[in-house]
Amino acid sequence: MFYICAQMRKIKIAIDGLSGCGKSSTAKAVAKALAYKFIDTGAMYRAVTLYFLKNDIDWNKPEEVNNALSSIKIDFQYNSETAKNETFLNEQNVEEEIRKMYVSEKVSPVSAIKAVRVAMVAQQQEMGKNRGVVMDGRDIGSVVFPDAELKVFMTASTEVRAERRRLELESKGERVDINEIIENLESRDLQDSTRAESPLVKVDDAIEIDTSYLQFEDQVQKVLDLAKERIAAV
Ligand code: C5P
Repeated sequence: MFYICAQMRKIKIAIDGLSGCGKSSTAKAVAKALAYKFIDTGAMYRAVTLYFLKNDIDWNKPEEVNNALSSIKIDFQYNSETAKNETFLNEQNVEEEIRKMYVSEKVSPVSAIKAVRVAMVAQQQEMGKNRGVVMDGRDIGSVVFPDAELKVFMTASTEVRAERRRLELESKGERVDINEIIENLESRDLQDSTRAESPLVKVDDAIEIDTSYLQFEDQVQKVLDLAKERIAAV
């Protein structure tokens, strides 16, 4: 058992990695154990994508994108009934909607737009500036918090990731063919890691964790053990 002492300095924990390998659920559990703030940056890019889709924004037109970005406010609110940090887009709860396949299919091209990244990164840096934060995404260790005391890079085999995502969607009543999920995960990984703006990369000082054969509790424990070491060292 690890007890947080009030005098201990808080750190920033960056969890990056492939799509669907359990970054957000791990980050959330780690944040809970440390009494840290949890920020799911993928949810922010998903919320922007949802806004663009709902408002017919042509994201190939920079002016439309800039106008849209100035009308978008994203925040997270804790729901004690679901014990979840839920995503709000302009005061509307979009937590369920942003996880649907039609959003997953468009989120990578939207998040490759420089203006979108600049706007999101600024908000993320503001949210984590007081430390005591666990943030998950694709560019947290490389761009958002290159000074994070702990950087983790998570991976898992495509088959394992797809099956986990299928079960997650099914539990929410969305039945999706496993091949469609595999295609979406592989296409997002490719787009996310080959884009010009802050591509997904494993930075040199990140610790890689392959979650393919790990139980959820074990992957959380691994990150917590690393966090303990880093907290003790600051
Ligand atoms: O984490 P999640 O799979 O929900 O992220 C959805 C998408 O948002 C990713 O496929 C990626 O295109 C984008 N993203 C990003 N940078 C982040 C987090 C997510 O580009 N920091």
